[in-house]
Amino acid sequence: MRALYIGRFQPFHFGHLEVIRNILIENDELIIAIGSAQESHTKKNPFTAGERFEIIRANLVHEKFDLSKIYIVPVEDLNRNSLWVAHVRSMVPRFDKIYSNEPLVKILFNDAGYSVVNTPLFSRSEYSSTKVRETILNGGDWEKLVPVATRDYILRVNGVDRIVHINSSDKC
Ligand code: NAD
Repeated sequence: MRALYIGRFQPFHFGHLEVIRNILIENDELIIAIGSAQESHTKKNPFTAGERFEIIRANLVHEKFDLSKIYIVPVEDLNRNSLWVAHVRSMVPRFDKIYSNEPLVKILFNDAGYSVVNTPLFSRSEYSSTKVRETILNGGDWEKLVPVATRDYILRVNGVDRIVHINSSDKC
C-alpha cells in the first residue's frame, strides 16, 4: 500500500512527524505532498516549497526513516477545486489512499472515489504550524514546538527574521 499525506508544513512540526510515523506503520510507502507549493514569504506561508522540502527531508534523516520508501513532491494549488484531485494525481506517484483532516481535502478526494483516513491529532493545541508562526512572531519559545531538524533549518535561513518582517507589512 502506498499512502499520500498532503500538507503545507509551514513549518513542519511534531504533529506532522507523528502522523508520518503512524502512516509508515500502516503502509509500505508514503508520498508527502507539499501543498501550496507556489506560496512563500507570506504570513500563512513563510517558507518556499524548496525550503519545506529540505526541512521535511532533514527530519526524516534525523529520525532515521527509510528514505527509499518516501517520496516528497511539491504540488501547486489549482484555482478550481473540482479539478484539484486530478491535478494532484498528475504530479505524484500512484497512491492507494490519502491521510488528511482538512475538510476540503477530504471532500474532494472522497468525491473522486478515494479512501480518506483521518489522522489522530497529536497535542493539536501545542503542535500546530499556526502556533509556531505566532510564537515566533511574539518572541516566545517556539523552538520547543518543533523537532530539532526544523529548528536548525529555520535558524539557518533566518526564518525568524523573515516571519517578523513579513508580518510588519499590512499587505499580505
Ligand atoms: P497543514 O500543514 O496545516 O496540515 C497537514 C495535515 O497535518 C492536516 O491533515 C492536519 O490536520 C494534520 N496535522 C496538523 N497538526 C497536527 C497534529 N498536531 N497532529 C496530527 N495531525 C496534524 O496543511 P493543510 O492546510 O491541511 O494542507 C492542505 C493543502 O491542500 C494546502 O496546501 C491546500 O492549499 C491544498 N489544497 C488545494 C486545493 C486547490 O488547489 N484547489 C484544494 C484543497 C486543498
